[in-house]
Amino acid sequence: MFKKILIANRGEIACRIIRTARAMGIETVAVHSDADADAKHVREADEAVAIGPASSARSYLSIENILKAIEQTGAEAVHPGYGFLSENRKFAAALAEKGIAFIGPGVHAIEAMGDKIESKKLAQKAGVNSVPGHLGVVKDDVEAVRIAREIGYPVMVKASAGGGGKGMRIAGNDQEVRDGFRSASNEARSSFADDRIFIEKYIEHPRHIEIQILADSHGNVIHLGERECSIQRRHQKVLEESPSPFLDAKTRSAMGAQAVALAKAVDYRSAGTVEFIVDAERNFYFLEMNTRLQVEHPVTELVTGLDLVEQMIRIAAGERLPLKQKDVKLNGWAVEARVYAEDPLRGFLPSTGRLVRYREPAAVAGLRIDSGVYEGAEISVHYDPMIAKVIGSGADRNQAIATLEEGLDAYFIRGVSHNISFLSALLHHPRFRAGKLSTNFIADEFPDGFHGAALSDEERRRIVAVAAMIHHRMQAREAQISGRLTPPETTGGAEWVVMIARVPVPVTVAETAGGYAVINGEASHELAGDWRIGDPLFQGRINGEPLSVQIDRRGVGYVLSHAGATVELQVHSPRAAELAALMPVKVAPDMSRFLLSPMPGLLTSIAVSVGQEVKTGQELAVVEAMKMENLLRAERDGKVAKLHAAAGDSLAVDQVIVEFE
Ligand code: ADP
Repeated sequence: MFKKILIANRGEIACRIIRTARAMGIETVAVHSDADADAKHVREADEAVAIGPASSARSYLSIENILKAIEQTGAEAVHPGYGFLSENRKFAAALAEKGIAFIGPGVHAIEAMGDKIESKKLAQKAGVNSVPGHLGVVKDDVEAVRIAREIGYPVMVKASAGGGGKGMRIAGNDQEVRDGFRSASNEARSSFADDRIFIEKYIEHPRHIEIQILADSHGNVIHLGERECSIQRRHQKVLEESPSPFLDAKTRSAMGAQAVALAKAVDYRSAGTVEFIVDAERNFYFLEMNTRLQVEHPVTELVTGLDLVEQMIRIAAGERLPLKQKDVKLNGWAVEARVYAEDPLRGFLPSTGRLVRYREPAAVAGLRIDSGVYEGAEISVHYDPMIAKVIGSGADRNQAIATLEEGLDAYFIRGVSHNISFLSALLHHPRFRAGKLSTNFIADEFPDGFHGAALSDEERRRIVAVAAMIHHRMQAREAQISGRLTPPETTGGAEWVVMIARVPVPVTVAETAGGYAVINGEASHELAGDWRIGDPLFQGRINGEPLSVQIDRRGVGYVLSHAGATVELQVHSPRAAELAALMPVKVAPDMSRFLLSPMPGLLTSIAVSVGQEVKTGQELAVVEAMKMENLLRAERDGKVAKLHAAAGDSLAVDQVIVEFE
């Protein structure tokens, strides 16, 4: 077994790999950019080596710098994690040349599977079902339209070098094929320096289901069942689970057999994933093979009981697989949610900044958190905006989901925007609960974006109860402070009015043996838990059931977050509530005459000029952010009065780009 391994990655996955290596008694070397000098993975590794400036291209993607770090530390093997150099054939080859073990597949397999067109050809030969389409490079938009018509609409325009959902467009007609061809190839050129495009049939009501495989260097290949990753936004996975609520045993073993056949066809070694798209009739088609550890691997670990990183390390050291296909048993259920630094209420704009407050949920049975940050850490523009993965597991799907929901409710992150409210809303959604998934789920269920989850009447009463309880206690404490200039609102009374969106809800708070009771009309809520003043999280029980509510102060009021909803409210004494009702409401300024940048980014082009008449839906500008091209269109008809920015400008969020008359 290796004595020392280097982890050529950062963030949660580097921490994840360090954890297993340590458990195996292997020393670890972290590498880091200047921006990551204080990162969690650097703190957790036995040794750390600086490999360059913040920009990934000159640090985490620099083969030369990583080779130097290996030489310097004497690491015998390298785990590449996912992303960065994990599927880079040159990196694997450079390591092989130096006699360093790559904890991943051989160069040949990486190369064969690295290109979507070539891998599909190979899969066809190995007897794997693939999506009907045209397995050749499309020359220009004229040819694109011709091929799309041949295949029949709708089609998927895809970059052969694509990955991470980039360089991919759905097209339902000729115009969309032309637009899609142009934007997909631009995106692929800027992200992968390779703009080859191909076109395949768009599979309707698609579900994304992938098979995890493990192969050793002695010709043994097994599969570890599936993960369903149909809940996606912009073709990027948001929730993943294992097993899939859709597969029957027959389909599972047919998909498993094809995945194993493909792995054998490329002499695969290590952990790998064969992705399929599955239609409503359970026909399945090969999408691509990822020759690395996947972000969502924990759900497989939780249902199989295997540590995939450990298996990868053992395989790289030449060991044989410890089990045969018949020994693989899937137990229970696991669901993973990806916590991103982005603002779901503002079109999922990426968010950067410092984690001014950061607290992970307490460890409970069935809850796993894979994170790579700590309080005070910075989410920078340079890297992927994923903060952590939260995984719930249990005997069945409902239990796994309930554990995950509780974990998200108790996950406290401030300083950057995050998508926890959206993740909660997805998990609570009746269609998600019913397992009726499709990759269109988010687009179908949130057609005009996410505006915060709606609370049920009971959830709202619970929020009111928590608000009244905390306010009552804070006022009671204030009352004990002598010599104040302004007297506290309470003089020992227990009557409060909770104002939500200017609607008054009168309640009474009473102390009980186990905590507090809040009486709201007919309903009474018993709150128990060891919440203390100043604690941003109430975590306890309400009428005997577990409840987590996050508490922020805003002015004289509070913002409470629970189950994906955020409620702004004030709590007043009855007299103060009467007066508050008389306060005027502030009106927001009208900004509809302006095109604002929805995110920080680079203005790549402006399609209109001063004096031009524009129609609703017409392209106005393109803003590139986090390597994605975002087309901004006119929201209504109008005439351009002034341009406030020019192509090439760096834009801040809400910066004015175009002004209309
Ligand atoms: P990437 O390498 O960028 O992840 P994939 O080829 O794996 O790209 O596709 C990502 C997602 O895009 C899939 O999970 C699926 O939701 C969707 N997708 C890709 N190809 C098709 C298709 N032919 N029909 C329907 N959906 C597709």
